[in-house]
Amino acid sequence: MDLRKMTVSQLREMLISRKISASELLSVHLERIERSQLNAYITLNDKAMEAAREIDRRISSGQELPPLAGLPIAVKDNISTKGLRTTCASKMLENYIPPFDAGVVEKLRSAGAVIIDKTNMDEFGMGSSSENSTFGPVRNPRDPSRSAGGSSGGSAAAVCAGEAVLALGTDTGGSVRQPSSMCGVVGIKPTYGSTSRSGLIAFASSLEQVGAIGRTVADAALLQGVISGPDPMDPTCVIKVKPKNSIQGTLSGLRIGVPKELFGEGISDLTKDVVMRALSFMERHGAKLIPLSLPELRYSVSCYYMIASAEAASNLGRYDGIRFGHASSEHSSLAELFRNSRSEGFGREVKRRILLGTYVLSAGYAEKYYRRAASMRAKICSGFETSFSKCHMIASPTATGVAFPLGIKRDDPTELYSADICTVPANLAGLPAISFPCGSGEGGLPIGIQLVGRKFAEDQLFSAAYSFESLSGGYEQLITSGGV
Ligand code: GLN
Repeated sequence: MDLRKMTVSQLREMLISRKISASELLSVHLERIERSQLNAYITLNDKAMEAAREIDRRISSGQELPPLAGLPIAVKDNISTKGLRTTCASKMLENYIPPFDAGVVEKLRSAGAVIIDKTNMDEFGMGSSSENSTFGPVRNPRDPSRSAGGSSGGSAAAVCAGEAVLALGTDTGGSVRQPSSMCGVVGIKPTYGSTSRSGLIAFASSLEQVGAIGRTVADAALLQGVISGPDPMDPTCVIKVKPKNSIQGTLSGLRIGVPKELFGEGISDLTKDVVMRALSFMERHGAKLIPLSLPELRYSVSCYYMIASAEAASNLGRYDGIRFGHASSEHSSLAELFRNSRSEGFGREVKRRILLGTYVLSAGYAEKYYRRAASMRAKICSGFETSFSKCHMIASPTATGVAFPLGIKRDDPTELYSADICTVPANLAGLPAISFPCGSGEGGLPIGIQLVGRKFAEDQLFSAAYSFESLSGGYEQLITSGGV
């Protein structure tokens, strides 16, 4: 019996019928982590076994079990966990132990989850390869010489490799969806305002949300349902996504928009081909494909990098070595303490974003850059609105290609930035978006398809993805049969 291939509902069934205990389930995962070469986690939770034993006590006393009871779940290392080190993969927060839990972590704990570890990532979430980590790069379980994607590369790799049953990632411009695509798992970026950001260490507050990663659509939907919902500690978090305990899906009557701008230049031909084949498969099963044009999407990457960097420069201003973060031991004045702490504590990419963000916000340039980006963002939002009068959801590839070899994209950051073309629009517009595997490309590596929905229509995305998954037999089936 390979526990790695089991779904949440199968594992739950085994726990309830006592075929396996929560502590045994945790041990299996810990053993796998011990043998792992993936570098998917930064810190193990030394209280995990205690939490698992508590669930075992509840099982033996016949108590009703909450939805995630006894499941080992990994949490990205920019989400605060009380008493458990949270570094953002940065030297700046290398020794930070949060005194409180993030809103989503509180929800995880009350759902009975066993937090197994804190996963590796790009520093502060800035990047798309999980190579910008002070703890070294994450390797892709499907080919360890390649990147797992990023910035939630550790979370996607852990779920793919069976080092966790489920994981939380965060998505500011694609960081849940792109690594999910590259590792062949399912990842969701929920509607802005559905999931608490309290205790999420901020990168770009107007863009980011915490999202679930699972091996199946139902697994990811269950986890997202658990963590979403209003939180008094986050005034922007107002509505719970509809929980999907039993998803049923049909593609019949579903209108799927296909924007030509997201099937154009910069996306590998094989990726476009595999995604188009998946869409034709959905069409054969009752969906209707609607050709669309959203010309403003051509500007979404530039717009995203200006807004995200501006917000990052402002959010990261707090790390000065006094109030927060690493303090340099070399200084002879206050100004030097600030300068040296920030120079030593932040990595190259984070410094680049702070410089860019400070520039686009500076007097004389804010009008030219930041404000123009903000008005382009409004155009992107209304472009989506118009499109949603013609279709229920919008499809595209998630990433521009399959997972790339580690090290090859380190020198030119703009090359990685432009590869975010398909994912950043949903963040700019605050819309929900799911990525799930739809076939494989170069080297037999996974390719993900993305569906972007109307605000708070996560249930429609889950249903459509679930239908595809069940009709095609799921990803492991897809790779053996050569696709749909
Ligand atoms: N790749 C994007 C960036 O580097 C997205 C990051 C994210 O979603 N956290 O900003």
